[in-house]
Amino acid sequence: MTAVHVPGAPTISAGDLISTSPATGAEAGRFPVATEADVREAVQRARTAGEWWAGLGFTGRRERLLRWRGVLARRIEELAELVHTEGGKPVGDAVVEILTALEHIDWAARNARRVLGPRRVRTRLILAEFTGHLEYQPYGVVGVIGPWNYPVFTPIGSAAYALAAGNAVVFKPSEYTPAVGQWLVDRFAEVVPEQPVFQAVHGLGDVGAALCRSGVAKLAFTGSTATARKVMAACAETLTPVLLEAGGKDAMIVDADADLDAAAEACVWGALTNAGQTCIGIERVYAVDQVFDAFVDRVVTKAGRLTVGPDGADIGPITMPSQVDVIRRHIEDAVARGGRAVLGGPDAVQPPYVHPTVLVDVPEDSAAVREETFGPTVTVNRVRDVDEAVERANALPYGLGGSVFGRKRAVAVARRLRSGMAAVNSTLTFAGMSTLPFGGVGESGFGRIHGEDGLREFGRAKSVTRRRARSLLPSMTFERTPTDVARLVKVAKLMYGRGR
Ligand code: NDP
Repeated sequence: MTAVHVPGAPTISAGDLISTSPATGAEAGRFPVATEADVREAVQRARTAGEWWAGLGFTGRRERLLRWRGVLARRIEELAELVHTEGGKPVGDAVVEILTALEHIDWAARNARRVLGPRRVRTRLILAEFTGHLEYQPYGVVGVIGPWNYPVFTPIGSAAYALAAGNAVVFKPSEYTPAVGQWLVDRFAEVVPEQPVFQAVHGLGDVGAALCRSGVAKLAFTGSTATARKVMAACAETLTPVLLEAGGKDAMIVDADADLDAAAEACVWGALTNAGQTCIGIERVYAVDQVFDAFVDRVVTKAGRLTVGPDGADIGPITMPSQVDVIRRHIEDAVARGGRAVLGGPDAVQPPYVHPTVLVDVPEDSAAVREETFGPTVTVNRVRDVDEAVERANALPYGLGGSVFGRKRAVAVARRLRSGMAAVNSTLTFAGMSTLPFGGVGESGFGRIHGEDGLREFGRAKSVTRRRARSLLPSMTFERTPTDVARLVKVAKLMYGRGR
């Protein structure tokens, strides 16, 4: 913690975590910092609460979750304003974020029983005398650790699904956005006043580390790849399963038959929304030679129109003050190594703001192409054809999302991207589709939130077989006879012995 207060940088004073606006430095909220013992106690309380919550069943939980969704929806302006004050995000972007989160709460609540509830599964000839039953039972207490860049959408992507599955949740919001985290928890307590089913614990990274070691039955982490490694190492000590939603360096591919106006519009949005502080933000573009110049012209025109500033602007401040240095380094390095800033450039960095910056012809091994920039910048490089574009897009260890613009080949190209998600003729849209799983590959993490996979992530498969008739061909018993075994050999050959 810095002694001199930098606007936006959280401070700790008299045992409280104080978050401030990155634009003005005004205090946004203060919350007691949890000790390791506090975190353990919260998890202990959550165990009892979780049993009670699980006991409500799918119907009872659905009703509460839909009421929570209703409260958030009715107070959307208030929450958007808080997101804006605490993180600097433009109010319009905050509204879009909250709307997306509401859709996820709604879908998780309405679909939990169908996806996770008890059901009979088909039996086959082997063990035909048994029925099979499957259900996904809650873990108990799930720990959720969230980042600051989407302080509503990201924790809800895990928490709403975990809650719908019947778990209690202990949530550690980012130290940059504790007020938003606490607000979500407080609204939940209004509709579930009986038990602390959804709690927040506040503090710096050590509180997150304490949550990993607190005895939670599963840990859902969203944040940087560097921290994901620490989280996984801490959870390994107790074999606590983890879900990791980590960083990205998503690419957009623009093919020769793309609608260039639409591609440029989506590129500008995908790269610059939330000042580029988006895990699935477009940070690199590969445009094929025939359309490269026309595409870049359009991007520069559209991005050049965006306003930058504290209130009512398209692009707000950089939330985490230290990130400004990373953004500056990436831009300066790109330019020093032969890249050209066709919009913005090193002078665009004016803390706490960074003006839109479009870099072209940037070497593929430069930081601006290989590392997460997390600022309102984008590199656009020329490629021979989509094959080269795919090769370059897939060259990084990250693999979160991606986007492809084109007609004939776009879906096929999207499928070739080494990523968990891709949008064809749009950007970022998969995040808002509650029926689609969300998550990455490689250094972008593993496990899935959202959709059916997202619900199953928070339930343990429980399998039950039940005898419904006497076994005609006993196998799993010492009572079987040599004749039975001979018959089993015949069955094995008859059923599985054909083919190569
Ligand atoms: P960080 O990794 O710095 O922090 C994420 C969370 O982890 C914070 O709550 C942080 O607490 C906590 N934390 C820090 N150290 C530890 C530790 N040792 N053990 C446990 N928890 C710890 O990420 P940011 O908050 O800076 O978020 C930006 C990153 O998140 C980007 O890389 C972005 O790509 C990624 N992200 C990924 C998404 C996805 O879905 N894949 C979605 C959104 C963002 P504190 O803040 O107090 O340090």
